[in-house]
Amino acid sequence: MPSFDRHPAEPRSTQYVYYFGEGRAEGRGDLKDVLGGKGAGLAEMTNAGVPVPPGYTIATEVCRHYYAHDKTLPPDFPIQEKVALARLEKEMGKRLGDPHDPLLVSVRSGAKFSMPGMMDTILNLGLNDRSVAGLAKKTGNERFAWDCYRRFVAMYGSVVLGIAKDEFEHKLSALKGRRRAALDTDLTPDDWKGLVAEFKAVVRKHSGKDFPQDPYQQLAGARDAVFRSWMNDRALFYRKQNRIPDDLGTAVNVQAMVFGNLGEGSGTGVGFTRNPASGKKEFYGEFLVNAQGEDVVAGIRTPQPLSELEKAMPRVYRELREVTRMLEKHYRDIQDFEFTIQDGKLYLLQTRIGKRTAAAAVKIAADMVEEGLIKPEEAVLRVDPASLNQLLHPSLDDKVKLPVIAKGLPASPGAAVGQVVFTADDADRRGTAGEKVILVRNETVPDDIHGMAAAQGILTATGGMTSHAAVVARGMGRCCIAGASAVKIDAARKVMTVEGKSVKEGDFITLDGTRGLVYLGAAPLSDPKLTGDFARFMALADKVRRLKVRTNSDTPEDSRKAREFGAEGIGLCRTEHMFFAEDRLPHVVQMILSAGRYKALAAEVAAQEEALARESNARARAALRKDLAAAKAKLKAPEKAYKGALAKLLPFQRRDFRGIFTAMDGLPVTIRTLDPPLHEFLPRREELIAEIVRMETEVGFLAKRRKPAPPALARKLRERQHLLARVEELHEFNPMLGHRGCRLGITYPEVSAMQARAILEAAVQVAAKGVVVKPEIMIPLVGHVREFRAQAEVVNRVAEEVFAKAGRRVEYLVGTMIEVPRAALTAAQIAAEAQFFSFGTNDLTQMTYGFSRDDAGKFLPDYIAKKILPGDPFVSLDVEGVGRLVRLATDEGRAARADLKVGICGEHGGDPASVEFCHAAGLDYVSASPFRVPIARLAAAQAAVRGKVAGSDSR
Ligand code: ADP
Ligand code: MG
Ligand code: MG
Repeated sequence: MPSFDRHPAEPRSTQYVYYFGEGRAEGRGDLKDVLGGKGAGLAEMTNAGVPVPPGYTIATEVCRHYYAHDKTLPPDFPIQEKVALARLEKEMGKRLGDPHDPLLVSVRSGAKFSMPGMMDTILNLGLNDRSVAGLAKKTGNERFAWDCYRRFVAMYGSVVLGIAKDEFEHKLSALKGRRRAALDTDLTPDDWKGLVAEFKAVVRKHSGKDFPQDPYQQLAGARDAVFRSWMNDRALFYRKQNRIPDDLGTAVNVQAMVFGNLGEGSGTGVGFTRNPASGKKEFYGEFLVNAQGEDVVAGIRTPQPLSELEKAMPRVYRELREVTRMLEKHYRDIQDFEFTIQDGKLYLLQTRIGKRTAAAAVKIAADMVEEGLIKPEEAVLRVDPASLNQLLHPSLDDKVKLPVIAKGLPASPGAAVGQVVFTADDADRRGTAGEKVILVRNETVPDDIHGMAAAQGILTATGGMTSHAAVVARGMGRCCIAGASAVKIDAARKVMTVEGKSVKEGDFITLDGTRGLVYLGAAPLSDPKLTGDFARFMALADKVRRLKVRTNSDTPEDSRKAREFGAEGIGLCRTEHMFFAEDRLPHVVQMILSAGRYKALAAEVAAQEEALARESNARARAALRKDLAAAKAKLKAPEKAYKGALAKLLPFQRRDFRGIFTAMDGLPVTIRTLDPPLHEFLPRREELIAEIVRMETEVGFLAKRRKPAPPALARKLRERQHLLARVEELHEFNPMLGHRGCRLGITYPEVSAMQARAILEAAVQVAAKGVVVKPEIMIPLVGHVREFRAQAEVVNRVAEEVFAKAGRRVEYLVGTMIEVPRAALTAAQIAAEAQFFSFGTNDLTQMTYGFSRDDAGKFLPDYIAKKILPGDPFVSLDVEGVGRLVRLATDEGRAARADLKVGICGEHGGDPASVEFCHAAGLDYVSASPFRVPIARLAAAQAAVRGKVAGSDSR
């Protein structure tokens, strides 16, 4: 066999073309950057001895060159391609464009990351008016030859020449109509001949030129079209959605054709080594007899399951199983493969790691560990943490009490409820506006992708489990039912009929994507199941991770839910949320209203007392004593109002804490003292003014007619005016940096004391019932150690009182949030007194960047569009800036107190990238909202694995 390796002394120019065939390939499976995923797979299969039609791969570098150099090819490329083509002709014993026995090839795109249906493939290239006759004669199958030619003209016409596919499809369906043919296979050779003539006329009409007859011109045109398709809208959209860089470029594979459309002994199909929807270990796929390439995925004919292949061609079936089993073992992951059978001989055309639903990913990862195929460390990397969302989504109740109107294939599991729409644009428009819609189509096409993304679910009337709709829906985690053939769609009139019943646009339907059932109406959805495969997989993640995962929760219900999701404690309980309930808010308002006056008068009393203590003159003392008595008398009412309100709030909070402690029996619970500025509990200034003006007008109106205002109205008016005065007093220019957090507790220690009392009394009470409580009281917004000290003193004093009275102690911690940069910078001082740190990364990000989170929406999109920031720092932690403060505070805090507990409790706790950072920074835990707890658990496991691999683990 000739080897194309050059003499070692000669400098090797860049290799642009990689041959695969003759039993070996120049490329390798790990060269995806160079060969694209498809090319790498073809090379790897060739080397493994799998039957693959030979061909060559044009490296991604050529595509990059094409875009970088004004759509031209590298100078060395043409000769390399010529050599490869000659080699292919030799191996196949046929020549491209030979009028008697032509070599036909496919031209296939293939980028590093698989982009199903995004790029265009051309089959049967090399046919022209002369070689089609040669092919017919050589195969003795005229029908076949002309079937190939009409496919080629249509594909080339649409992909390369940019003529709308419909132009060709209309001609085909018109022909079928005339012939009363249901299937393509019902048409005769002469039908195809006539159709080719019609197709060529279409090409002439739309491109102004005749269909190209020169195969080399065809080949160049197809190759450039693949390069162009790298930048088409569908590809750009897909890459954006999947965060694939635009500058990778695509490879092009030129491969000898094998034919599945040669007759009943031929066929084509696709399959998976395991079920990609459920993850079940079953050989799974579909095929069509006497068909070519895209027929299976295009949803034109509904294909047969592979079990039918076992009956029709048992030998081929066994070989296919054997080969794909080997591929799965080799790649140690589920394979998604394409095959063609030509006259009883099997060829593999593609294999790749199968895309799967989150449910399948979880099951397959857990199964493969049990099968000994992969290690737990590898298994946890197999599931995208964010995709767990799909499993945490609600599902249908077991018994849906709605009529089933249609059945289809369970193409992508889950449940969806929404209003029917019939076009992708409608789905996009209404879905983006926040409506819940179900996209209903005969079959979806790549151009529908934006509508699919915006829909809750997808229903198609034709197509199989591997149709475009099914593949894309699974990738997106959308529920999808495909091939519901009873559904007749009239997209123009925006209505579908199912067995006589019609469903209009806007009517509600419910999809059960797990069972393939379509219900009329909106069914209730229920909580996800967290047992079985999910639990098996999460146990692997838990085994691997070091970082603990807590939850942010303010109620016993959320705490229970989070515990089911695997939370190992509460990282943030926001007490202010307990203040907003209807039965509490009036007491909060009373507390705030009286607090100001109480403080002012209490200060007066204190001043008087001091003056009295300093005075020695008896007369003066008598006068001062009188003043003091007067001041004390004035203080009485506001004091009663203020302390009375706090006393009213105490039992509410205590009850909440009892519930939370009980739900979290045995686990730590971090409770933050009051954080937001007080005005947040009061009505808005504008609303109050409007209300007051209304009442004043009424009073004035009555006065004009010499009528007194009714006492209730007068009282209400006074009350509102009083409230307004307090609201104006509390008004702040920048509440984010205003009187909030521990600053409130410094001014109003009685509030902190009440909260500490509620927490610790609750702790003592449930501890008496045998609950294991681990309260951690957290002081917010500390910037100076003395702020912390003042608040910790209040807490500790109350604790001693509570314990003395109860005759029982509980262990508790007092710590602080680190959310003001100064706190991070003085972490050593603070850690000398605080028992734990919890990074409030929302505020820490606000204050480090100086961005107010509530206003950042106005400019952050520009920052991201102009690439000033890679993303929203409130979503994914800014590792360089905020992260630096986190590391510094952690390290210096631990140096001051070795057993300092450190965690984070911002929104970032549920963001996988931020979790990875927290692991690397050596934090003890992250805290996330209940639904994101499993995501954080998995992200923590992945961080542990990656950290070990990279050796970057600092601890
Ligand atoms: P996609 O990435 O959209 O799947 P492919 O390049 O894999 O595109 O090809 C589309 C279809 O054409 C597939 O069904 C594939 O198996 C088939 N096909 C591609 N090349 C050949 C070939 N040389 N012989 C027969 N069928 C082919
Ligand atoms: Mg393919
Ligand atoms: Mg905060």
